[in-house]
Amino acid sequence: MLKLFNTLSKTTEEICTLDEGTIRMYTCGPTVYRYAHIGNLRTYMMADWIRRTLELEGLNVVHVKNITDVGHMRQELVETGGDKMILAALAEGKTIEQIAQFYADSFHEDEKRVNILPAHVYPWATDHIPEMISIVEKLVANGYAYEVNGNIYFDVEKFSDYGKLSRNFGGDLLEGVRVEADPLKKDPRDFTLWKSAEAGRDVKWESPWGEGFPGWHIECSAMAHKYLGETFDIHTGGVDNVFPHHEDEIAQSEAAFGSQHVTYWIHGQHLLADGAKMSKSAGNVFLLQDLIDRGFDPLAFRYLCGTVRYRHRMNFTFTSLKGAEKALTALRRKGQEWLEHNKTSVNVSSDCLAWKGKFWDSVNNDLGIPEAIAILWDMTRSSLPDNEKLELFNDFDRILGVGLTSFNPDKSISHDIGNSLEKRTGLRIDKQYTEADAVRTDIISAGFDVQDGHTSTQLRPKTRYEQIEAKWPSVSASREVASLLEEPPIYDYSFILNAYNYVSDIQRCVQSILRNSTAYSTEVIVVDNGSTDGTGDWLEEFAGECSSLKVIHCDHVIGDAAGKNIGLKQARGKNIIIIDASTEVTGDLLNFVGQYLSDEEIGILGPYGLSTDDMQHFHEEVDKGYADAIQAYCMAFRRDALLSVGLMNEGYRFYRNLDIDYSFQFKDKGYSVFADSTLPLVRHEHRQWTELDDNQRDELSRKNFGRFLKRWGQRADLLLNADGKAFETGFRH
Ligand code: AMP
Ligand code: ZN
Repeated sequence: MLKLFNTLSKTTEEICTLDEGTIRMYTCGPTVYRYAHIGNLRTYMMADWIRRTLELEGLNVVHVKNITDVGHMRQELVETGGDKMILAALAEGKTIEQIAQFYADSFHEDEKRVNILPAHVYPWATDHIPEMISIVEKLVANGYAYEVNGNIYFDVEKFSDYGKLSRNFGGDLLEGVRVEADPLKKDPRDFTLWKSAEAGRDVKWESPWGEGFPGWHIECSAMAHKYLGETFDIHTGGVDNVFPHHEDEIAQSEAAFGSQHVTYWIHGQHLLADGAKMSKSAGNVFLLQDLIDRGFDPLAFRYLCGTVRYRHRMNFTFTSLKGAEKALTALRRKGQEWLEHNKTSVNVSSDCLAWKGKFWDSVNNDLGIPEAIAILWDMTRSSLPDNEKLELFNDFDRILGVGLTSFNPDKSISHDIGNSLEKRTGLRIDKQYTEADAVRTDIISAGFDVQDGHTSTQLRPKTRYEQIEAKWPSVSASREVASLLEEPPIYDYSFILNAYNYVSDIQRCVQSILRNSTAYSTEVIVVDNGSTDGTGDWLEEFAGECSSLKVIHCDHVIGDAAGKNIGLKQARGKNIIIIDASTEVTGDLLNFVGQYLSDEEIGILGPYGLSTDDMQHFHEEVDKGYADAIQAYCMAFRRDALLSVGLMNEGYRFYRNLDIDYSFQFKDKGYSVFADSTLPLVRHEHRQWTELDDNQRDELSRKNFGRFLKRWGQRADLLLNADGKAFETGFRH
């Protein structure tokens, strides 16, 4: 019997049905004017495990998952100033309905790719406006709601159970913080059921209170009621839904229908990415497609989710995803092996039953999938006969859903490869090992893994990820890269370039560096920061012809500071120049760099200096002279200074303001910052910046600026005008 932690009772309870044999379950579904990210998918996967477990118990599960479409979209868009993608689609003449359909399709596709069983009903919010209105009317009629100027509010004071789910009795605090508290409410805890349409709004509906649109929470009450009745068994969502969304849903539904809304409230904890909350500004919102683009099997993500209990926060990293992909591939290979050799029917032994029992006990114990996976591995390594192991794989996969016995069905061994394999076996028998190895290399490059056994050779198609890894190894974090900073320099100059897509910019920049440094001992380190546009291929190809180019690939976008730190750790030049792909070297840059940096007092040098009087406004007005900071387009410094200055702060995933921060690190160690705008370098369009919309720029910059101020805001002593003199451009020598 499945036991789950119920947020309502704060205890782990056995799931008992209201109706014999049937479970009615509602899952708060996606908002479809953006893509669902892997965190959302984790929450839907939790619901999928619950659903599968109950079905395997023999229960009939009726699963409803709503689609939140355009209802309150406009409101959020107004608040955030509009989403670039949506505005573009609207400008192209697409309707809001078409946009919603697009994201809904993509959501269904993602669910399918991670093997989440489709819900039986996917009701769309805007198809249920009459149902919502009817609940609101009921609440007005029985005194739980009141009207002010065409708005209807729920009267929290009247509902004595308010707060029973979240234990949050403070009410709509979140709303109060986010937007100006609504002065029309009697009590700040009251929440909106229906809102009158402001002038110019085109998404609106007729109602008894005039034209308007529904509040956010009412949609789930209406759809749950319509498809599952007044009281049903299970309601799921992410922890952020507990308050206010689910608290308010309980209040509305129970006040309208007079009976308990839901027996079991189950909430999944959040997924973090690279240790931080996923957010656009941190640049760590990953979609399932991002994983697929990088060669991963989406089911490896499903496996990975299985390794962390749903009630615990999960930190997603590409290192852990690689581990999951590897583990899953190893299991599938076992499954495939047993499948090939064991076609006989199974006589289940008591050992086999014991493994089965242990596995399902773990699953039933508040979805102990991590424990169940550990048992799966123990069983795999046990002395159980292979045919029984196979039987258990099939059984366990009914909940795990990761395809344990279906390995790469799309790639079979072709006639040619079969011939090559035979040829190689012949060569090995003749002890012609060199020739045999050459054939082996051909087979591997055709995408197969070759495993020699005692008597025969097994061929396994490589997974896509293994093929990419074979092409070029990659790192998932800067800590995976060794630091060579303590080693002596072996070049005069190291260029470091952080590459993230825009391959033509990277080509222009790298070629301009090479053209202008032939007279010097130079290396160019390019950190491919998770590009997916062919940048990685070009770099590999070019590095093959150019011995001074060194390429390090990251398997995802690890962020600007982390990428540059990889370059810094690997650099072996006496002087280092960090350069941006949007720039082009036009002359003898290294001569200048060498001369300036021979002055030990100068810490960082660059063509684009910044000055500030107040740490708030940075001006680009330094032509030649001391500055407060050097901009990221080009910053040069001596490598030995890094021993005291250190590496960059990896909290900066986006490049902006990282340059100021790093300049201050130099100043903090007593170095000065020097700018000379005559250095031979030009700037081209900075596409990382120009291709963002105003909102994104604001958000990304603001967060990083906050980081800078927090660290250096009290250090006015580091400013050029620290002695109170107004800042002057020009030499202070
Ligand atoms: P939304 O599309 O924002 O309404 O979210 C859909 C579902 O995903 C809700 O149940 C959220 O609680 C859940 N969710 C949102 N962010 C995360 C996250 N980072 N990790 C896990 N679940 C999340
Ligand atoms: Zn909901």
